Amino acid sequence: MTEAGPYDAVVVGGGVVGASLAHHLTLRGLRRVLVCDRGRFSAEGATSRSGGVLRQHHTAAADTRLTVRSMDTFTGWADEVGGDCGYRRTGFVMIVAEEYAANLAKNTAAVQEAGGRAHLITADELTAEYPGLRLDRPAAVSYEPDGGYGDPAAATRALLRSAERRGAVLAEGLEVTGLTSAGERITGVTTNLGPVHAPLVLLAAGAWSRPLAATAGVDLPVEPRRIGIARHRATAPAGPVPACIDDTLGRYFRPADGDALWFGAAADPAVALDARPAALRADEVATARRTLAERVPALATGTVDGLRAGLDGYTPDHRPLIGPVGPAGLYACTGFSGGGFKTAPAVGELVAAEVTSGAAEEWLAPYRPGRFAAGAPTESDFPYEHM
Ligand SMILES: Cc1cc2nc3c(=O)[nH]c(=O)nc-3n(C[C@H](O)[C@H](O)[C@H](O)COP(=O)(O)OP(=O)(O)OC[C@H]3O[C@@H](n4cnc5c(N)ncnc54)[C@H](O)[C@@H]3O)c2cc1C
Repeated sequence: MTEAGPYDAVVVGGGVVGASLAHHLTLRGLRRVLVCDRGRFSAEGATSRSGGVLRQHHTAAADTRLTVRSMDTFTGWADEVGGDCGYRRTGFVMIVAEEYAANLAKNTAAVQEAGGRAHLITADELTAEYPGLRLDRPAAVSYEPDGGYGDPAAATRALLRSAERRGAVLAEGLEVTGLTSAGERITGVTTNLGPVHAPLVLLAAGAWSRPLAATAGVDLPVEPRRIGIARHRATAPAGPVPACIDDTLGRYFRPADGDALWFGAAADPAVALDARPAALRADEVATARRTLAERVPALATGTVDGLRAGLDGYTPDHRPLIGPVGPAGLYACTGFSGGGFKTAPAVGELVAAEVTSGAAEEWLAPYRPGRFAAGAPTESDFPYEHM
């Protein structure tokens, strides 16, 4: 790799975001694309630990647009990308306290307006469709029949294979140690194997993006946060459950094969930027399980037989940083704040369109990295207690 290149573009990071960028850049005709990851592709960062929940419901219409567009890719994966993304259509439900019912209706309408399928249902309809759930307190519920989950590592591998078929070079174990520039232009990156030259560098290094951007004099407002999920296996069949965010409990879960489900067990902002986060603790898992047993009674018994903890990059408004930063040719695509799997297809498509055409994509306007310095973070249109 010494004095390698020149490439048309270098993508730093081989998680689902970097993989989607590479897939779409090569689809748009860029042939010499280098994707590098300091470890194994799809096995190092947040992507490898992700729960893979696929939903369209959000509290800002801008986010909803991205997930609705991405859902088309997940549901039509074999034709659009090739291979398998592990998509399972289990339905998704958003449960909120009654006082947020009006906001729920507006956010559900936003899914419909963006072209997705969603509608409000009653608590009785919910538990009739999903006998594994219990809903005793008054609440409002939105249902998405196409929601469910995917396999983020499998999706990443499929996107990378697609890029490779079109000529991308996939370099595992290639650690980017810095960004290089001359005058006001990016010229490439330095790596453990020497310099790599390219006029376009896309920074998709997740939680590890900030120190890399700093080598080009750019301060990206992205902080590492540790997220953990745990897998529960019921002792006896308890009836199906959907993928679900329960805002009344501040928790989420999704079904898995057999009588298992994955549930959110930790979200810890005060962590160091290590290669690996601390493993989940028994008390974190027990607290989440106890809380969620109100909604999924099967959680009160059975066993926890799998744990995942990962670091993702979080921004102050919990929305990604997407756009040009610093020297010309440097582009940030990071800070997906715990939700980057479900939007990765649309993000890759829009970024590739933007960098190859030179025309700004309007859908990306809410995510520009400069919004915090300008005092204009992207707010929820119709928020809930926890979202
Ligand atoms: C436990 C957990 C559950 C989640 N659940 C969901 C969910 O249900 N739905 C959803 O949509 N999202 C979920 N997420 C979030 C989602 O997985 C992430 O937002 C998404 O995977 C981020 O992808 P990424 O490519 O930006 O980052 P990553 O997957 O972290 O990839 C970054 C890559 O950059 C590489 N890298 C870092 N530094 C360098 C360097 N110097 N040189 C070269 N390579 C480098 C890393 O090795 C890594 O592979 C979850 C995340 C976690 C951790």
